[in-house]
Amino acid sequence: LTSGLEAAWTKLKGEEVLTKENIVEPMRDIRRALLEADVSLPVVRRFVQAVSDQAVGVGLIRGVKPDQQLVKIVNDELVKLMGGEVSELVFSKSGPTVILLAGLQGVGKTTLCAKLANYLKKQGKSSMLIAGDVYRPAAIDQLVILGEQVGVPVYTAGTEVKPSEIAKQGLEEAKKKKIDVVIMDTAGRLQIDKGMMDELKEVKKVLNPTEVLLVVDAMTGQEAAALVTTFNVEIGITGAILTKLDGDSRGGAALSVKEVSGKPIKLVGRGERMEDLEPFYPDRMAGRILGMGDVLSFVEKAQEVMRQEDAEELQKKIMSAKFDFNDFLKQTRAVARMGSMTRVIGMIPGMGKVTPAQVREAEKNLKLMEAMIEAMTPEEREKPELLAESPDRRRRIAKDSGKTEQQVSQLVAQLFQMRVRMKNLMGIMEGGSIPTLSN
Ligand code: GDP
Ligand code: MG
Repeated sequence: LTSGLEAAWTKLKGEEVLTKENIVEPMRDIRRALLEADVSLPVVRRFVQAVSDQAVGVGLIRGVKPDQQLVKIVNDELVKLMGGEVSELVFSKSGPTVILLAGLQGVGKTTLCAKLANYLKKQGKSSMLIAGDVYRPAAIDQLVILGEQVGVPVYTAGTEVKPSEIAKQGLEEAKKKKIDVVIMDTAGRLQIDKGMMDELKEVKKVLNPTEVLLVVDAMTGQEAAALVTTFNVEIGITGAILTKLDGDSRGGAALSVKEVSGKPIKLVGRGERMEDLEPFYPDRMAGRILGMGDVLSFVEKAQEVMRQEDAEELQKKIMSAKFDFNDFLKQTRAVARMGSMTRVIGMIPGMGKVTPAQVREAEKNLKLMEAMIEAMTPEEREKPELLAESPDRRRRIAKDSGKTEQQVSQLVAQLFQMRVRMKNLMGIMEGGSIPTLSN
């Protein structure tokens, strides 16, 4: 998806304003990029239309190049398409909250039961899992093991009892135990079939769930739209969970869910571990899809905290590959001042996925970096080449900052990588000027 979109921006270089004519080609690239990312055709059509309408409608904003405007419009539309804001899970006001998980086989439902329980535990909520996949004894064992792993009870009634009956018994048990959230695991099939839908309908009737969440594998391609529509029409969903976003997914499914069902993606699974579950952030996903590590918002954010001249200076340095350790430090501190590391890390080129653990790691790195940069001489800060060339200097810095030589070498390497990355990314945009985007 990324490279296709980059081509779209490049075509607008040198243009003064966005017109009906000059957006034709970029829009074709965007369309192709979305289709290649397995976004379903009707969704692509509506998206392209919405972007085109807006693009031609906007007048000349001073200081903003047309390609940047288009990036912004595409970004905003992507965010809108994915629901705009984070959608929280809904909790029942009286009695246990009931979450019913549905979806095809192998998408990660059973794993999610435990991940969800673990997630809710951190919010101080107790959970109970109900083993409703009666077709494979292994599925029940799997849930029991996962339940043990995260320390939550699992209600099982073997494979001889109907899922709706298990659901009923499980719910009663949870009420007795005053459990906050009941999570029902269900069986999936390789394909949508009537038996599965009927069973889900029955279970739903018994449970009267607060949330019916369709679990969708992020790798699901074109079929995502039909899949979501069918489940929504047949059983009525309240939202979706996108799993396996850690894989080599092209993200198409994420774009289709809200558009075809009107229901938001609420959570995303990013791995097999119990901690790998987090809220779905439409803006981050859009940034990821745009594939520029969201340089735009990064620069926007940076501007908020840096004085304008500083930002322009930084800009020049990035363009001329003079980005040095002073800039690195300034920027790092600015980022720290911004507070929300979580959001910002997602914007740094090349750092797409962020887990809470990574955020803590990044904050630790920040302190580490500061210590090492502070141990550099002014000359070394301005000329990182000196450090690249001299192991003696690196050794001294390591000693003075109480870090290892390897850590210093890593920092130096990181700066050079950053130079290259930033130069490449800014080069994508016309002349690389700082976008002063007005809304
Ligand atoms: P179910 O058939 O829908 O119940 O799917 P399972 O929960 O049994 O998961 C199927 C496989 O996908 C298992 O091997 C899981 O470990 C794996 N899995 C589930 N969620 C994720 C995820 O977010 N990322 C990755 N990489 N694997 C996952
Ligand atoms: Mg399962």
